[in-house]
Amino acid sequence: EAMMMLQNVEVGRSSLDTYRASAGDAAVEELRRLAAPLQGLRVLHLNATAYGGGVAEILRSQVPLLRDLGIVARWKTIPGSSEFFAVTKAIHNALQGGTRGVTPAEWEIYEQTSARAAENVEESYDIVVVHDPQPLMLRHLVGRRDAVWIWRCHIDSSAPDPAVLAKLAPLLGEYDAAVYTLGSFAPPDAPPGRVEIIPPAIDPLSPKNIDLDKGLTTEILDWIGVDVTRPLLVQVSRFDHWKDPLGVIAAYRIVKRRMPGVQLALVGSMALDDPEGWQVYHEISTEAADDPDIYLFTNLTGVGNIEVNAFQRLAEVVIQKSLREGFGLVISEATWKGTPVVAGRAGGIPLQLTDGVGGYLVDSVEECAERILDLLRDPESGRRLALAGRELVRRRFLLPRLIGDELRLYADLLEQHPA
Ligand code: UDP
Repeated sequence: EAMMMLQNVEVGRSSLDTYRASAGDAAVEELRRLAAPLQGLRVLHLNATAYGGGVAEILRSQVPLLRDLGIVARWKTIPGSSEFFAVTKAIHNALQGGTRGVTPAEWEIYEQTSARAAENVEESYDIVVVHDPQPLMLRHLVGRRDAVWIWRCHIDSSAPDPAVLAKLAPLLGEYDAAVYTLGSFAPPDAPPGRVEIIPPAIDPLSPKNIDLDKGLTTEILDWIGVDVTRPLLVQVSRFDHWKDPLGVIAAYRIVKRRMPGVQLALVGSMALDDPEGWQVYHEISTEAADDPDIYLFTNLTGVGNIEVNAFQRLAEVVIQKSLREGFGLVISEATWKGTPVVAGRAGGIPLQLTDGVGGYLVDSVEECAERILDLLRDPESGRRLALAGRELVRRRFLLPRLIGDELRLYADLLEQHPA
């Protein structure tokens, strides 16, 4: 029998007390207070991939801390074929305003895979948090089962393809609440019902974000193969058109004409649920083929958390030239490390970065190049901007704040929907 089990992602447990130094004692104590009435609560987080992209990044850090708070938290992924993930990427793109749409045959694949996954939700939960569109149908297929169901949307869905939204709206309507990163992301025609705004956060203690000293940082990147004596520009992101990697290369070329020593590293991860990655990778490598100062790195050749950490630290400027962006953890990751960012004015980016705090927002390739040049010419001002950005991250975008917002929502919903 072809059982399509939900896959358990085992992440153990970590100690909230270790966050006192970065997030402060008050934040840690507030979480313990919020969690006190929720002891033993069974919470399932359900998404599509255990690695690659922001959602996996957050769950990897959040689930172990929920456990430390006395919550019985589980993380599972919905199994799918590459065909299924091609469909869910099409849905993702349509929610971000893409116009390609989703064909009837694709909806059929979506429904069939969802139905097979739904047969295997066996345990009982008090709260089920469904992340993004891939597992969205499970609420409908599994039924309520006395759980509170939350849809956690990480996508800029403010101007979705209307046909795709119309198809998803009845599914969404069955949830007890929908959570978005920004108020404007709740699609205008989404069913009414409770909407909550909770922005994501970064984990200051993950190997991606812990302090690395300059010597170690330099050694890591020297080994990887960039020239650590020349200025380095870095974009860290999935290989996705919405992240505009070709625009990044175009901006770099303008900078390079005025500062010939500059190098560019595009650091990208392949995510299980993003089948477009390879195609975009090939477009980038073709575009970059004539310039040995453009480097392409992926998780498949060993660029993991520590290496990303080193790239975000050693870069003179981090670029995130997104055209659409749900949040963009990479922005906070960079400013947290004291590196200024030049980023596209898109989606959740301006939450973390405003002109003068963290770096600069830009609307075009030319503007992107100008701002990079400004920062390369005046590193001292870049450092000041980044430090202001780091302070914003400390106040608003560290993991304990996110967990607190979610615990408040769980408690509220449980009160309104007793089992
Ligand atoms: N990331 C990584 N290696 C890479 C590219 C990205 O570890 O080669 C991480 C990055 O550091 C960040 C996450 O993947 O933590 C991407 O999250 P973000 O919110 O920026 O974008 P998303 O991929 O969710 O659209």
